[in-house]
Amino acid sequence: MVFEALWTRAMTASARGTAAAPGRNVRQKAGLNRAILATGWGGLRTMLADKAPRLLAVDPAHTSQTSAACGHADAASRPSRASFECVVCGHADHADLNAARNVRRRGLALLHGEGQSHSATPVTRETDRRLAA
Ligand SMILES: [Zn+2]
Repeated sequence: MVFEALWTRAMTASARGTAAAPGRNVRQKAGLNRAILATGWGGLRTMLADKAPRLLAVDPAHTSQTSAACGHADAASRPSRASFECVVCGHADHADLNAARNVRRRGLALLHGEGQSHSATPVTRETDRRLAA
């Protein structure tokens, strides 16, 4: 089981306000946010630890903007909140599935002793070199 190391405050920032008078674009996320705040990520991990033999926390940076196919990280690969379309290789997937694949890859890298994975970095550097050439 692999988790992103996320800040609860950042994850639930859009739910601020009262339940009786929520802000805009909050309703869909409110239930999830209540669950996060009520249980906490620590509580969630504790519950899942009973089911999973091993829990890993990975660097969450750019998991939602990185192509699970080629590793290129680019905000432009997110044409909408729900969809991912890599601007380099054309890999298309639901944004959450694409991000989950990146989290899994980083977790496997940790398991295999590669340290905290930043797998997108070399690809991005290579891409920068190609673009600069
Ligand atoms: Zn790609």
